[in-house]
Amino acid sequence: MEMSPSQSQNNAAPAGSLAVVGIGPGSPDMMTLAAVSAIKSADMIIGNDFYLDQIPHLITHQEVIRSRMGREVDRARQAITHAQDKHVVMVSGGDPGVYGMAGLILEMAEKIAPNLKIEIIPGVTAASAGAARLGAPLTNDFAVISLSDLLTPRDIIEKRIRALCTVGIPIVLYNPKSRTRTSLFEDVIGIAREHLPGETPVGIVKDAYRPDEMILVTTLQDVMDIFDRIDMHTVVFIGGEETRMLRRDTNAKGIFTPRGYRRKYVY
Ligand code: SAH
Repeated sequence: MEMSPSQSQNNAAPAGSLAVVGIGPGSPDMMTLAAVSAIKSADMIIGNDFYLDQIPHLITHQEVIRSRMGREVDRARQAITHAQDKHVVMVSGGDPGVYGMAGLILEMAEKIAPNLKIEIIPGVTAASAGAARLGAPLTNDFAVISLSDLLTPRDIIEKRIRALCTVGIPIVLYNPKSRTRTSLFEDVIGIAREHLPGETPVGIVKDAYRPDEMILVTTLQDVMDIFDRIDMHTVVFIGGEETRMLRRDTNAKGIFTPRGYRRKYVY
């Protein structure tokens, strides 16, 4: 018989476990060995189609529960319930602690399954993946902001962007634009332009490390020309005051932020 989380609460630790596993940006070789091993040894894998479709090679004997985008609370509850007596893996894109399921799982488990063994397995987040594709835009301090207003009110997002633009560090935008939410990105670019020069490099990486990967380098003054290319599979880098285009012999343009070695060394 399956135990409900509330039944198990006052008993010994459940026999099962729950791992919230980051599967990285999309390609199998961008996953950690720990993620691969957790998925391989799981009894059950829970995740949405988009992420499960990135790991077909790892799904052999495990029971699979496919969930839809959204309904995260239901999915978390389902994972915690099954983890009472099974080794459950919940797969999450990139790093599960960065706009992923790790927080919600821990918050809910604290209440309904405090004895459950939970492990969070990190993954390569979109900021790291996209940065690597662009060159090295995040070598020094930087900030990450999600433009999704589903859980954070829009005025708070804009307030944070405004504050960050005044300190001149690179800003990475997750969830830059959805089918229904397009104007916030435009507003954010408007705010950035009030504080940063038009030539500030902007990098756009769509589907990093996936088959349809697209990398674009532009500037703050021209970025709205490629507004149509930006969607929910895109991560956007707005350079800081020291960020510049990378000069290389290849055709590929890159973006680079000096860490500050030149202030100290001659090379
Ligand atoms: N936990 C994920 C982020 C989830 S929020 C992570 O750590 O990467 C979803 C947003 O992440 C997307 O809207 C997009 O902005 C970004 N993203 C995730 N994977 C990406 C990829 N492979 N290429 C480009 N952007 C990506």
